[in-house]
Amino acid sequence: MAASSKPAAQPGATGRLPSVDRLLAHPDVIALIERFGRAATLDALRTVLAAARQQLQETQAEPPSDVILAARTEGALAVLFKPSLKAVFNLTGTVLHTNLGRALLTPEAAQAVAHVLTQASNLEFDLATGKRGDRDSHIEALICGLTGAEAATIVNNNAAAVLLVLTALAAKKEVLVSRGELVEIGGAFRIPDVMARAGCKLKEVGTTNRTHLRDYAENIGARTAAVMKIHQSNYEIRGFTAEVAASDLGALCRDRGVPFLDDLGSGNLVDLSTYGLAKEPTVGEALRHADVVTFSGDKLLGGVQCGIIAGRKDLIAKIRKNALKRALRVDKMTIAAMETILRLYLDPARLAQTLPTLRMITRPEADVRAQAERLAPAVALALSGQATVAVVACASQIGSGALPVETLPSAALALTPAGPGRGAGRWLNAFADRLRALPMPVIGRVSDAALLLDLRTLEDEAAFLHQMALLTKTTFSAP
Ligand SMILES: *Cc1c(COP(=O)(O)O)cnc(C)c1O
Repeated sequence: MAASSKPAAQPGATGRLPSVDRLLAHPDVIALIERFGRAATLDALRTVLAAARQQLQETQAEPPSDVILAARTEGALAVLFKPSLKAVFNLTGTVLHTNLGRALLTPEAAQAVAHVLTQASNLEFDLATGKRGDRDSHIEALICGLTGAEAATIVNNNAAAVLLVLTALAAKKEVLVSRGELVEIGGAFRIPDVMARAGCKLKEVGTTNRTHLRDYAENIGARTAAVMKIHQSNYEIRGFTAEVAASDLGALCRDRGVPFLDDLGSGNLVDLSTYGLAKEPTVGEALRHADVVTFSGDKLLGGVQCGIIAGRKDLIAKIRKNALKRALRVDKMTIAAMETILRLYLDPARLAQTLPTLRMITRPEADVRAQAERLAPAVALALSGQATVAVVACASQIGSGALPVETLPSAALALTPAGPGRGAGRWLNAFADRLRALPMPVIGRVSDAALLLDLRTLEDEAAFLHQMALLTKTTFSAP
């Protein structure tokens, strides 16, 4: 089909716009076709011409030159081809920031992912027998070895894990949950709704602040499919409270022959108290009492988005057979990443160095402060005349519902307006906008009268300083 333009609908300036064919022969446009391909260039060219035609009809101005039209086309193509998903500096102080991609992989894990993505793999192929294999097999033994579970399977995320477990083990039956644990996780994951989705009847027991063992015991009946414990994750109930220990709940469930499910949320494979953090039961400890546990792959575990289901062999087999498992299964890149990350746990003595999430969480305050002192002069120089830079103490948090009330003492670069008499609030927001507009955006947090860049999670100092230096070259007119 010829790409020639239709006759101009109106005489005058719009009629003097070049035809598509003429523009396609322009050297600047030919260069664009080389870079972006003919189809996309043609599309952008038509859009640019249509906009120019409209503008001419409205303003009677002189038609733009071919060079200008080509430049506008390049602008449109540049936007179209610019990656949307990009790396940023997470200097928010929240180590596992759900909106910023949670845990970070090691370069080795990322390489393992790239390796299986660019060639065929034995994803579901048993190399010993030449027969069909199971994608879970690549990580199941690792998970079992690290947690003591009899069996394990993996799905898209922990929300999916909970949905699948409930669907497979408790559809059309009752599941007992304490009223103190009916949590809503961000992104509309609410336990009562998930129960409904799974076709289970949620049977609330106890009260918001106090639930006793007898509350469970009195409510277990013929229709009870399971008792479920759910990690409170993002809130804490304080004051006159009582909850039932997992060991007591486990004993009750064993006694009554009802599966005990424990949604751990973050799911730590190692004891965090050895790193000076609050004591949370590990997955292995939880499995001493629970029949099935569920936890995230990209929270404290430090891997990629997935949900791990571990526990009794017969129950995991039932879960794996459910039709939902197929719909919720993970891609090979998840398995490649998790396999590499889980192996780091085989050497727990070095984990605080080798696992990025743990490295960032356990980084000593003095270390972060020393880095802040070291970088402050260079950042101050880059922002001179625009912002003043001070090193301040601040509190980081782990994020993603892991140890929600625990904070980590940290240090930040505090940016405040350099000039006098500026409206601080507007300045801070405008400066935060600028940091987000950098080629590698820098995401901080606005607190009181300063824009804080919490350095707990900053590892690539050179790349960060490079971004700061780019701010020197742009002019910033404070609001
Ligand atoms: C985070 C969390 C989930 C959801 O996990 P995702 O991996 O984000 O899907 C479910 N339950 C609890 C208790 C959680 O903390």
